[in-house]
Amino acid sequence: MCSGRVDPEFVFRAFSNGQDGVFIGGCRLNECNYVTHGNFHALNVALLCKRIMAYIGLNPERLNIRFMSAGDGILFAEHMNDFGKKVKALGPLGVSEGIDRQELKSRLEDVARLVPYIKIVKREKLGSRLTKKEDHDGLFTADEVENLFREVPSYYIDPEKCQACMTCFRRCPVEAIDGGKNRIHVIDQDKCIKCGTCLEVCPPKFGAVTRIVGGPVPPPIPEEKRTIARKGKKEEST
Ligand code: SF4
Ligand code: SF4
Repeated sequence: MCSGRVDPEFVFRAFSNGQDGVFIGGCRLNECNYVTHGNFHALNVALLCKRIMAYIGLNPERLNIRFMSAGDGILFAEHMNDFGKKVKALGPLGVSEGIDRQELKSRLEDVARLVPYIKIVKREKLGSRLTKKEDHDGLFTADEVENLFREVPSYYIDPEKCQACMTCFRRCPVEAIDGGKNRIHVIDQDKCIKCGTCLEVCPPKFGAVTRIVGGPVPPPIPEEKRTIARKGKKEEST
């Protein structure tokens, strides 16, 4: 119902599904009926997505956002016709950009996987309200997006420190942590969305989670070595 509901994930999913262009239509800016002014959020999302598109080699013109009221039928038709012509002129996604199909798929998948992280890191800017058109270009810069991707963190659980308290296991929003009672916990790097929750919730007395930027993540401890032998329990049962 509201353009503010448009998530960057929707945009990149559309491209992953082979769409050559994405159009976001929102109500006129400053005319939102709600305090949330979701259309400003949609604008910020579009500006961020355009920078990300440029970063992965896609023409940002393939994404278009326009604002109009429900009574602006003619304007809507004009925007759609113009955008339709533009997308046709751009040709199939990736072809005019010279990106191989498989490569494009992998770049889009990488972005889709990082969307939750990007939203967390950029939440303040995504929530801003740009009332002047001249501020649009500067909200997100090309350098900023490049850094964003260069500084993507990884989270790692030190097997020597993990006490299998299961806090991170329970709090991970995407079930990316393999663990259990008396089992050293391990992060599945392919599933992890880099939210940082595990680092926040791991009790300081254990401090088992590390944030790694720009370096390799140590390999996971083998399955057979993940059981923690509790000294006290052993002695009790003997
Ligand atoms: S950072 Fe931690 S809590 Fe967040 S998704 Fe990755 S493993 Fe799960
Ligand atoms: S919160 Fe820390 S100590 Fe507890 S299971 Fe997770 S990594 Fe291990």
